[in-house]
Amino acid sequence: MKLVLASGNAGKLAEMREIFDDLDIELIAQGHLGVEDAEETGATFVENAILKARHAARATGLPAIGDDSGICVDALGGAPGLLSARYAGEHGNSGANITKLLGAMKNVPDSGRDAHFFCVIVWLRHADDPAPLIAEGRWHGRILNAPRGASGFGYDPIFFDPQRNASAAELDPLEKNRISHRGQALAQLRELLRSRS
Ligand code: IMP
Repeated sequence: MKLVLASGNAGKLAEMREIFDDLDIELIAQGHLGVEDAEETGATFVENAILKARHAARATGLPAIGDDSGICVDALGGAPGLLSARYAGEHGNSGANITKLLGAMKNVPDSGRDAHFFCVIVWLRHADDPAPLIAEGRWHGRILNAPRGASGFGYDPIFFDPQRNASAAELDPLEKNRISHRGQALAQLRELLRSRS
């Protein structure tokens, strides 16, 4: 079965292909089919994931997967949340986003620095599918006072996982993919697919 991924991110494509490897699913990035990014105008992660998947399904006539993710900080009432990628203004400027978040947290003691990454992945059988599969994952940790580690992307250098005693940017990438919000959501989606088929 052909399935379109509503994202242009090569890392996500590789990670998801691995997950669907033995399910007889050929995952194609929307960019390969000439589909542009959808506008993320939803008020929640799940709305944005559905908007992205519906846009890709409508444009290609194929079933589609869309995802949305971000980091939610308790002391900031869940911010940056939906705005994680453009928290400091410019889309995808991780350095500026980290600087802004550390600034917003500068007077918050260690005991109040809890945060989690959140990811939702939706599967639409077609653009008008009224019952999408919806999988989600949460990765709990806390915000460090300064960046640590060199791998990963986005907020990884300032997200500390107390169970592994490491920042997300200090973890082996395979280990991160296994335990992360995205890894959890993918594992859940796989189970949903198994039980639907
Ligand atoms: P999107 O799901 O591709 O829209 O990503 C939203 C934003 O959330 C990214 O640009 C990052 O800033 C942040 N983010 C999501 N997942 C991660 C992660 O695993 N590590 C670090 N930052 C992340």
